[in-house]
Amino acid sequence: MTTTPFFSDLHVHTNRSLCAPRETEPATYIPYCKDEGISLIGISDHVYPTDMIHAYGYPEETRLSRLLSLRPAIEEANKASDVRFIFGCEIDYFPSVGAPYISPEESLHFDYVLFASSHILNYPHMYTEYDLNSPDVLRKLTVDRFIAACQLDYPVPMGICHPLYPICSPYQAEIIDGMSDSCLKECFSMAAEKGISIEIHACLYRKDTPLNEYGLSDHYLRILSMAKSCGCKFHFGSDAHAPGAFVGSHDRLRKAAELLGIMEDDLWDVAKGILKRS
Ligand SMILES: [Zn+2]
Ligand SMILES: [Zn+2]
Repeated sequence: MTTTPFFSDLHVHTNRSLCAPRETEPATYIPYCKDEGISLIGISDHVYPTDMIHAYGYPEETRLSRLLSLRPAIEEANKASDVRFIFGCEIDYFPSVGAPYISPEESLHFDYVLFASSHILNYPHMYTEYDLNSPDVLRKLTVDRFIAACQLDYPVPMGICHPLYPICSPYQAEIIDGMSDSCLKECFSMAAEKGISIEIHACLYRKDTPLNEYGLSDHYLRILSMAKSCGCKFHFGSDAHAPGAFVGSHDRLRKAAELLGIMEDDLWDVAKGILKRS
C-alpha cells in the first residue's frame, strides 16, 4: 500500500446493479478497505429505465425506489466500521429517450451522481440507427454523449465515470487514439467549467488497450492528461461489483494519479468527503 492522500473510491456497486452478484452489499467491501487504503466508499449503482428492469425480469417496480432501498444497508455499513459510506448513483441515459433516468429533483436523494456517458455497446438496442461496429461511429457517439453529459444541470455534485472510454468495444485503442487533442480539449474544458469530476477508472488497467511498464494504458493516460491540463477535478473509481475487482485496484489507480501529476488540489470535493449542493 502506498501512502497518498487519495483514500476514496466513488464508483462501487452492490446487488442493486443487475450485473453484480446477489451477495454484494455495501458492507461486503469493509474487510478489504484497510489494505486498499480506502476510508471513503461511494456506492454508485446503475439506474435503469423501468422498461429495462421489466425486460430483465427484475421484480421491483420502479427504478428509484429500488436504489433508495439501499439506504439502510449504507447506514449499517457506516456504523459497522471506520469506513465512511456515501450514496451516489451511476446514471444511464439514451438519446432515444432524451433524458437521464434520474431527474435533477430525484438526484437530491443522493450525495452525488455519475453519468455513464460511454455506455453505448452495453445497450445496442438503443442505438439501432448507428453502425456500432465502426470505430469512427462509436468514437463520435462517445464524444457527443460526453458533451451532452456536460450540458446537464443537477443540484448535486456531478461526475462522469469512465470518461470517453468506449465500454465493451474491441477497438478501444483505435477509438481513443483517434480523439484529437483539440477534441479532448473541447470536452474537458466544458467539464472543468461545470465542475464535473473526471474519473480515474479501472479501464486504465483493463487489458483492452496495451499496457505500459506499470500495467497502465498509455492510450487512456493521454486522455486523462488532457483533462488535467484543462483544469478538471478528479475522483477514483474501481467500478467494483464485488470484492474481486475492488482488491488490488487502488494502488494502480494511485499510480495513474502519480503519473498524471494529480495532487490533492486536483481532487473533486466529493472524493475528499466534502458534500455540497448548489
Ligand atoms: Zn459504467
Ligand atoms: Zn459502474
